[in-house]
Amino acid sequence: MQRIRDLFPEKRHTYSFELFPPKTDKGYFNLQNTIAELSKLRPDFISCTYGAGGGSRDKTFDIVEHIEQEHGIIAMAHLTCVLNTREDIGNILRDVHGRGIRNILALRGDPPADNPDWQPGPDNFRYSSELTGYIRQEFGDEFGIGVAGFPEGHLLCPDREKDTDYLKMKIDAGADFVITQLFFNNQDYLDYVERLSGRGVNNRVIPGIIPITDYKALIRFTGMCGATVTDEVHKIFEPLQDDKDATMKAGIDFCIKQCRDLLHHGAPGLHFYTLNKTSPTAEILQAVRA
Ligand SMILES: Cc1cc2nc3c(=O)[nH]c(=O)nc-3n(C[C@H](O)[C@H](O)[C@H](O)COP(=O)(O)OP(=O)(O)OC[C@H]3O[C@@H](n4cnc5c(N)ncnc54)[C@H](O)[C@@H]3O)c2cc1C
Repeated sequence: MQRIRDLFPEKRHTYSFELFPPKTDKGYFNLQNTIAELSKLRPDFISCTYGAGGGSRDKTFDIVEHIEQEHGIIAMAHLTCVLNTREDIGNILRDVHGRGIRNILALRGDPPADNPDWQPGPDNFRYSSELTGYIRQEFGDEFGIGVAGFPEGHLLCPDREKDTDYLKMKIDAGADFVITQLFFNNQDYLDYVERLSGRGVNNRVIPGIIPITDYKALIRFTGMCGATVTDEVHKIFEPLQDDKDATMKAGIDFCIKQCRDLLHHGAPGLHFYTLNKTSPTAEILQAVRA
């Protein structure tokens, strides 16, 4: 399968989706239907998380293989280095390479809830820049590599300048492109791209987009990942929090506006956090592409 970076010369914008591995067999069955539905929207690629939110790590590569083989769509496996030794990572990469997977989102990840104090030792990678460098060193150009970016700075590094320096280290280590954490103030994204450009980093920074469908869940989730819920979002969605239909409608309208504005200001595409659902991403993408 093609590396994602090979799409860039021919596509000004890429549209992509993110999924996570379900915990149950029923969830896995449902996800296959969701993938079939999402595939009809002709995404440029689909990515699948690794262990995030307690999802099964083993299933990530099965899902990526399924997307590519059953639907002919480029897929990307997320891979985190927490808990894994260098040797583990080498074995995983050889295995996924053997399965034909050619795109990796190289991440550090977070220690799991049942082992929150885990610290990297001498056999572990400390940062995703080290994982990225390892993949390039051991596998050359065999893999396309994406990395995570944080327009507002990472939760543990709110100093945006410093965090931007760390992103540059990932690019210098061999990453091809960046996918950002979700955000609601487009200016944060545009400032981030400008900070990177000031450091000579002009790789694609694809905005990560989450359609708002549940205000209370949004508050919980953003608290964990460190994204700011803007006053505008509070003002629109707080009064609607007990009205599912009104929230959905307002979420679609808000997201379409956000996406159009990002593309208008030069974003090289959109990466949707679908939460394993076709709706409302399908409606939003169709409106944005029209
Ligand atoms: C698009 C996207 C997809 C994600 N997918 C997953 C997933 O599939 N599974 C999952 O578990 N998690 C996932 N995450 C969450 C991610 O793993 C966490 O946010 C994690 O805390 C940081 O990962 P990273 O790869 O950015 O780490 P790093 O780039 O290693 O950064 C981690 C922290 O260290 C700091 N730092 C980096 N380099 C240095 C350095 N040289 N010296 C000092 N400090 C440094 C950074 O500022 C940051 O605070 C995803 C996040 C995003 C945005």
